Amino acid sequence: MKDICFGVDVGGTTVKIGLFQTDGQLLNSFEIPTRKEEKGKYVIGDIAAALEKELKEKHIEKERVAGVGIGVPGPVLDDGTVNVCVNIGWGVINVANELGTLTGLPVKVGNDATVAALGEMWQGGGKGHDSMALFTLGTGVGGGIIVNGKPVNGSHGAGGEVGHIPVVMDETEVCTCGKKGCLEQVASATGIVKEAKKLLAGSEKASALRNYEPLTAKAIFDEAKKGDEIAMEAVEILGKYLGIAMAHVAGVVDPEIFVIGGGVSKAGKILLDAIEKNYRQYVFHASRDAIITLATLGNDAGMYGAARLVIEN
Ligand SMILES: [Zn+2]
Repeated sequence: MKDICFGVDVGGTTVKIGLFQTDGQLLNSFEIPTRKEEKGKYVIGDIAAALEKELKEKHIEKERVAGVGIGVPGPVLDDGTVNVCVNIGWGVINVANELGTLTGLPVKVGNDATVAALGEMWQGGGKGHDSMALFTLGTGVGGGIIVNGKPVNGSHGAGGEVGHIPVVMDETEVCTCGKKGCLEQVASATGIVKEAKKLLAGSEKASALRNYEPLTAKAIFDEAKKGDEIAMEAVEILGKYLGIAMAHVAGVVDPEIFVIGGGVSKAGKILLDAIEKNYRQYVFHASRDAIITLATLGNDAGMYGAARLVIEN
């Protein structure tokens, strides 16, 4: 009986590996360093060795392993080919074939953000649903979209790239992607700080935010909770643009649930309230009642979702 699988989340500094039961229970997790030297040529071999070692240590026969799911920070084609991973140093490489040959196990590969969405839907904030949109608010804004249990990868591997949905038509600064007006420019940790600084510069109002050096997203939410007007306004701007972007997504895929993750989501209820109010205002009426909730798996979402890739529906 194939009751065991691995979920592997490849990041720029570490590779997170989870040993799972196929029913979703995490048995063990650990990390190995991502050896990026020589264009990342050691990474797959290191993963294969770590998986073998883990099976040996836990006295698990390979026959019990359903497969290895792996999330990578780059575009992935359906056959497991990764099309350039800048963070790892990889060019075009078929991760499924290479890791499969080394381990003798079935391997499935997914984009890390999409895989994180799968993880949140399997065992996290989206549990019990099968159409979900994940917005991850960190240094940037990432995400993943799942419709009827299937991740939306798109024809260029850019499906679910919600951070670069254009929302600010009069933005003057340039986004990391080269465009102007992306959601990421206003709804990321860096984005809310940038907006708050603009508000501070354009106002004489007293604000506790003026005492922070450096000003952080956490400080803005903390002060907004205490009633600081400029901080509240900055939160409202984030909520407005995120609500608009979510309404756009709803207009295309109409998910049952929106899950908000990433470091910024630690702000909790005040963030959800700001988003919800705006989403409900801007969205087409039929999608109005979609659930909006927080992610629960944190940095483990990618590991969970990768494991989910190898489990048949
Ligand atoms: Zn952008």
